[in-house]
Amino acid sequence: MIAAPRIEIDLDKLHFNALELVARLHEHSIAVTGVTKAALGSIEVASTLLRAGVSGLGDSRIKNIRAMRLSDRDGRLNKAVMMLIRSPMLSEVELVVMYADISCNTEIEVIEALSLEAVKQDRVHQVILMVELGDLREGIMPDDLLPTVARVIGLPNIMLKGIGTNLACRSGVSPDTANMAELSDLADVVETTFELSLDIVSGGNSANLQWALNNDDNQAGRINNLRIGEAILLGCETLHRQPIDGLHTDVFTLVAEVIESKQKPSLPRGEIAQAAFGEVEPVVDRGLVREVILAVGIQDTDPEGLQAPGGLRITGASSDHLVMESDNNDVNVGQEVAFQMNYSALLRAMTSPYVAKKYKLNDEVCSVNIFG
Ligand SMILES: *Cc1c(COP(=O)(O)O)cnc(C)c1O
Repeated sequence: MIAAPRIEIDLDKLHFNALELVARLHEHSIAVTGVTKAALGSIEVASTLLRAGVSGLGDSRIKNIRAMRLSDRDGRLNKAVMMLIRSPMLSEVELVVMYADISCNTEIEVIEALSLEAVKQDRVHQVILMVELGDLREGIMPDDLLPTVARVIGLPNIMLKGIGTNLACRSGVSPDTANMAELSDLADVVETTFELSLDIVSGGNSANLQWALNNDDNQAGRINNLRIGEAILLGCETLHRQPIDGLHTDVFTLVAEVIESKQKPSLPRGEIAQAAFGEVEPVVDRGLVREVILAVGIQDTDPEGLQAPGGLRITGASSDHLVMESDNNDVNVGQEVAFQMNYSALLRAMTSPYVAKKYKLNDEVCSVNIFG
């Protein structure tokens, strides 16, 4: 008996998606940093991406990187190039220098702290400077890049590995020919000004795929790296959330168990105030309906990001209950219901201790993680 709720993860499909994207981007001379942040440092996910040929792993949480680095299940993980893709907190520089090879940075104060720590640990830490190109999340303003580089290259035990940008995360600004050319030009200017060479010019995330794959090689310019998570995990591009041709969109499936199934009125009875999570939409009276409750809730996933199977509709959710309406009456207690997830639902479910993880490889269960 395997616990519910659980995520079933098909590592063969994951491997296929990663292999495809690595190959398609390779044609444009772009390497893939496989982003694992939605998977809570899952060793299974990380090893699968490495097996598929990503050039390294990226994660926003140093604790995930530490978990992957210290895994003794796959030797590849100890040796893999690991990139912290969120600017380090000052309070974690010791861990960053210890476990990450590269970190993405925007604050000189942090890079100075990384330098001090790297000297202390007798290591060289590599830095990517992130540049703000319109999306208004992290990034050094383009005009401040050269003065920042000047300071970074003078710091002991710090190596300027490259520059990068991140778009389409906060404001939805699309990567396009113009902003990618701007990043390329900045790379050239840094190199000629300081007579150095930048190994990595990292153009962005899954939202860059359309730009990268529909361009001829010349237009990719200096961009030679993308940090890709969602497109590998869910097989979708992220600007319009359309499936990517030829990729699997069902690597992950959330399975939850029915704990109640009854005929109930569709209309609540009594005076209406707020519910557990705030205001509720008014309900239309549809007479008696088949209400089905599943033992999964907001603590486990994002109910708004679940795609229910045919004949079932989600009508409400609280911490631990998912309320659904069924078109037919033969939904029974103990029965399992399977959902496809969007990125938000996946992120929360993969990082919830309450959701068991069941990994399949070569059509066989290869690993199960259950909490409690
Ligand atoms: C999350 C993240 C990525 C990966 O984004 P996806 O949409 O999952 O491909 C890349 N870079 C940074 C800085 C991120 O925070």
